[in-house]
Amino acid sequence: MTAEAFENLKNLSEWEVLGGRCAVCGPVSWLDKKAIERQIGNQYLLNLRGKLRCSCGNRIGNEVLIERIDRNA
Ligand SMILES: [Zn+2]
Repeated sequence: MTAEAFENLKNLSEWEVLGGRCAVCGPVSWLDKKAIERQIGNQYLLNLRGKLRCSCGNRIGNEVLIERIDRNA
């Protein structure tokens, strides 16, 4: 478990994007932090895992990822 799991949505910077990977169908999809916050409120990333639901309907075992956008790219 990474330290990032203990971050919460509001702690994420503009250049950090939130992704989710479904345990069933696999691909990572990038999520809209603000939309999630509107939906379920500010949450620890650790808790997000059980709340995310993939378009395939699975909500078990999903991974939450944080990607940093390289602003110098
Ligand atoms: Zn899925």
